[in-house]
Amino acid sequence: MARYTDSVCRLCRREGVKLYLKGDRCYSEKCSVDKRPFPPGQHGQGRRRNSEYGQQLREKQKARRYYGVLEKQFEAYYDEATRRQGVTGENLLQLLESRLDNVVYRLGFAASRPEARQLVRHGHFLVNGRRVDIPSYMTKPGDVINVREKSQQIERIKVLLENAEQKTIGPWLELDLSSKSGKIVRLPARDEIDTPVAEQMIIEHYSR
Ligand code: SF4
Repeated sequence: MARYTDSVCRLCRREGVKLYLKGDRCYSEKCSVDKRPFPPGQHGQGRRRNSEYGQQLREKQKARRYYGVLEKQFEAYYDEATRRQGVTGENLLQLLESRLDNVVYRLGFAASRPEARQLVRHGHFLVNGRRVDIPSYMTKPGDVINVREKSQQIERIKVLLENAEQKTIGPWLELDLSSKSGKIVRLPARDEIDTPVAEQMIIEHYSR
């Protein structure tokens, strides 16, 4: 499947916010958004037009890049969000939060979403006892995610598990480090999702 392979720091600079795509580096002084807080490219420091459409587009791109989702798949999440009962914007964020790679990241089993995606792809996790290697796999309340026993011996995963203890996780998740597992208790409420996007603008973008 196609995926973005260029510098991910460019994406943060384009959106003007930290998207936390590089793990520890994002919290260090090496972060490109801190060092060069303007869009990348030749005209990055030039005058910026800020039309309503432009703002809506940027919010959509920001959310897409934050979760590492391609355009077509993002549109499919939007369609599903409109079909569900409740507030479409909140539904959209809940769908994005339910992706397996996001849950792995939120539980602290990976330092960034791109790393979570790679670890899932390599088959290091079980969902309800079954190996799942699809990053976009939709988890649901009650699901239990385990780090595979064999994978727990891998040096990088050992470090991640040690660090997971310090990570603050949302109240919609439960972490049990003794069994190297996490449980999805329920869907997150909007105020429990710290994604820096104005989801209403995304909805307006697609409703045009
Ligand atoms: Fe974004 Fe992290 Fe790169 Fe900073 S270091 S620009 S937050 S990916």
